[in-house]
Amino acid sequence: MERPKIFLKPREDDRIRAGHPWVYDNEIAAVEGQAGPGAEVEVLDCRHRSLGSAFYNPKSKIRARIYSRTPRAADEAFFTESLGAALAYRKRFFDPDRQSLRLVFGEADGLPGLIVDSFVGTAEDGARRGRWLSIQFLSFGIDARKKEVLAALGRVFPSDGAAERSDAPVRSLEGLMPVAGTLAGEIPGRVLIEENALRFGVDILGGQKTGWFLDQRSNRAAAARYAKGRRVLDAFCNAGGFGLACAAAGASSVLAIDSSAEAIAAVSANAKLNGLESQVEAREANAFDLLHSLEREREKFGLVILDPPAFAKNRASVEGAKRGYKELNLRALKLLDEGGILATCSCSHWFGRELFAGMLEEAASDSGRRIRLLEERNQDLDHPIVSGYGESRYLKCVIAEAI
Ligand code: SAH
Repeated sequence: MERPKIFLKPREDDRIRAGHPWVYDNEIAAVEGQAGPGAEVEVLDCRHRSLGSAFYNPKSKIRARIYSRTPRAADEAFFTESLGAALAYRKRFFDPDRQSLRLVFGEADGLPGLIVDSFVGTAEDGARRGRWLSIQFLSFGIDARKKEVLAALGRVFPSDGAAERSDAPVRSLEGLMPVAGTLAGEIPGRVLIEENALRFGVDILGGQKTGWFLDQRSNRAAAARYAKGRRVLDAFCNAGGFGLACAAAGASSVLAIDSSAEAIAAVSANAKLNGLESQVEAREANAFDLLHSLEREREKFGLVILDPPAFAKNRASVEGAKRGYKELNLRALKLLDEGGILATCSCSHWFGRELFAGMLEEAASDSGRRIRLLEERNQDLDHPIVSGYGESRYLKCVIAEAI
């Protein structure tokens, strides 16, 4: 069967040729053939040269997502090949049989809307060791091909069970409902994974996002290198990834705060798992309020970690996000001892590196102290950053010291 074709307006192909995988609704000149939600279409420029194959979705502003730069079907063979390539890349840096990692990072791996996190460890409710997958299907095209994706995963990356965590808000932009549950096998209540030589319990079905923030793995280790002998504040701690790494690295004490009661319970459980409970205090609190009251009480810390959720979810919210980030960073800087370290993150692609650096300059200036930049970091390598697709560069982690 001839596949439907979408023809771009003049000059709309440049960005796509540079590697961007999305075609927006206003970039299309014409659609030829019947293309329903999730259909495979061929994308052509205004001179009818092919740009590749894409998933079509008439309900989304992102009208087409390119999955191949040559005309081909998104069948099981395609997914087997793409997953194989994603796995081969990660094997250069990780041992997927021993380490938990993100196996597929959507468009950055050529698989639009597909996220696959792999958690390797022991099921808490038994001595079972295994590998369990936490999967998000975030585009219409990939959602319509669950069966093929799962079959290909079974071949390329066998696991003891797979959970679906397609309960991310972005699904609604594709006209999809949130879905979560077990897809295959049995998902343990918690999987005890290992990261940076520490153990953490991951609640695949109930934790935030896919259950654990794998992208911060190397940044946690980086922050922990400054922790020895310091009093640490881990703000927006979730299950304690940063704070516990610091405690294990010899922090004198760690105050870990999060507004989620579940996250705080997870921090306590994880501290116990690693025998670090005497060093770690986990407190349920709003970080903005708590930073304010710590400042009023003239508390001081040798290392403050800020890892808030994405304040800027789109272009329109960048200004408001800047105020939020600045307030937090300003307060954190005021809490630092002389020579204290700030490890500050933003996971919003929209709030880019330049904006983040500018915000930090302003916060430093307003706090009345100068900072010296030590490290400018990104997400870990299992969340690849690829040229032409700026959205893949999202996580910033700046480590600086107060001078
Ligand atoms: N640092 C964590 C990940 C943080 S994700 C890690 O290394 O895994 C962002 C966290 O911020 C979530 O756990 C969320 O519950 C928490 N959060 C969101 N708004 C908050 C607020 N106003 N105060 C404190 N925590 C908040």
